[in-house]
Amino acid sequence: MKRAHVVGAGLAGLTAAMALADAGWRVALYEAAPQAGGRCRSYLDRELGCRIDNGNHLLLSGNRAAMEFLARVGAADTLAGPGAPVFPFLDAPSGRRWALRISPGRMPWWLFSAASRVPGTRLGDYLALLKLRLAGVDDTVSGVLPEGALWHNLLEPLAIAALNTPPDTGSARLLNAVVTQSLGAGGAACIPCFPREGLSESFIDPALRRLAIQHCVPQLGRRISGLEIAHGRVAALLGPDGPARLEQGDAVVLAVTAPVAADMLPGLVVPDAFEAIVNVHFRTDARPVGDAAEAGFVGVIGGTAEWVFAKPGILSLTISAANRYADISNETLAERSWADICTLIGSTAPMPQYRAVREKRATFTANAASEARRPHPDVGIAHFAVAGDWTHTLLPSTIEGAIRSGRAAAHSLLSPA
Ligand SMILES: Cc1cc2nc3c(=O)[nH]c(=O)nc-3n(C[C@H](O)[C@H](O)[C@H](O)COP(=O)(O)OP(=O)(O)OC[C@H]3O[C@@H](n4cnc5c(N)ncnc54)[C@H](O)[C@@H]3O)c2cc1C
Repeated sequence: MKRAHVVGAGLAGLTAAMALADAGWRVALYEAAPQAGGRCRSYLDRELGCRIDNGNHLLLSGNRAAMEFLARVGAADTLAGPGAPVFPFLDAPSGRRWALRISPGRMPWWLFSAASRVPGTRLGDYLALLKLRLAGVDDTVSGVLPEGALWHNLLEPLAIAALNTPPDTGSARLLNAVVTQSLGAGGAACIPCFPREGLSESFIDPALRRLAIQHCVPQLGRRISGLEIAHGRVAALLGPDGPARLEQGDAVVLAVTAPVAADMLPGLVVPDAFEAIVNVHFRTDARPVGDAAEAGFVGVIGGTAEWVFAKPGILSLTISAANRYADISNETLAERSWADICTLIGSTAPMPQYRAVREKRATFTANAASEARRPHPDVGIAHFAVAGDWTHTLLPSTIEGAIRSGRAAAHSLLSPA
């Protein structure tokens, strides 16, 4: 039986571990943190007295690798959302509400109805999206897309959310990949969804249960500090108890974050710029109304946050591309976010108990410089592959990208070139 060592139990590592175990390999999984999941996890917040996610994660039905992952771990029915390609929006400055209603098939019939389109836009405005297809490596989102109602009410917030990078530096090519696999694939690929209970309940715990059946139980709290490379292969993993020698032919998947991978493998070029995301979780029974209530989330235009998610007893806001708020305290961001919520729920209730979570390195900066630094899984070491949302997935830093990277790493070991 072949043996693999997977370092890092985020989505990329879990995916690689499952693919190798499915192929009949014996898999050892090492995770530095006390829990698996990495940047996609839930935990009990003692102060709020409930479980929260490290950050709200929005998926689309067109995220095929993510949907296949959920199906494989038996968690396809753990997602919530409107069940249709509908995106409710709130214009925070005016309080106006509207919803983008994409027609279900591949033909974009919705563009022909002013009621389904983005307010203030005409059919011809959408031709601008074709410009994304022609974008060059160095083109930025705002350099390619024109200003106007479509930009203000959809494309700018979409770019910020999808790339987690300001549009004046964000890569037009990466946004094109997202648009092609969602809007470009028709309404069936644009159904928004998110974990009904939590990220761990949907993605991580079911994957761990599946791995356990395959005799792979992650070694939690086990930080691998380095790799000993000899004769073009990994000879040992350096752990807390000293080097763990590998047998000839043992494979290694390095599925850690980009900076850790670069530390462990001198010479490995990885993205070196990052963007923060702030999530503010309010403990409240207040609920949005209308389309937003049905969908369970709402996009916010012109507010502090980009999205509000409604979960039992909690309203959670996501502030993307949050490096711009580096000097603004969590408390101030919470106060500003609560103002968005007051507009949403039509009340001026006092701010309730909240938790603000600032992930400083939530994603790599999705710009041309990062793109040039994303490695392929095979970096030229025998029986070795790198995995992570920061590798060459042709997608921004997302669940979909992380899962694809885990698959690609496993594939490169199972079918070496
Ligand atoms: C706040 C936030 C919001 C997000 N929103 C969305 C969204 O709406 N939609 C979406 O699709 N994506 C979203 N993402 C991105 C998504 O979460 C990530 O792309 C994905 O989880 C990355 O998975 P990964 O396995 O590549 O990396 P990670 O999750 O970072 O996994 C790496 C793992 O390696 C472990 N590790 C590190 N060093 C070592 C070591 N030395 N030894 C052993 N283990 C080690 C880490 O602890 C971690 O568990 C969001 C991310 C954040 C942070």
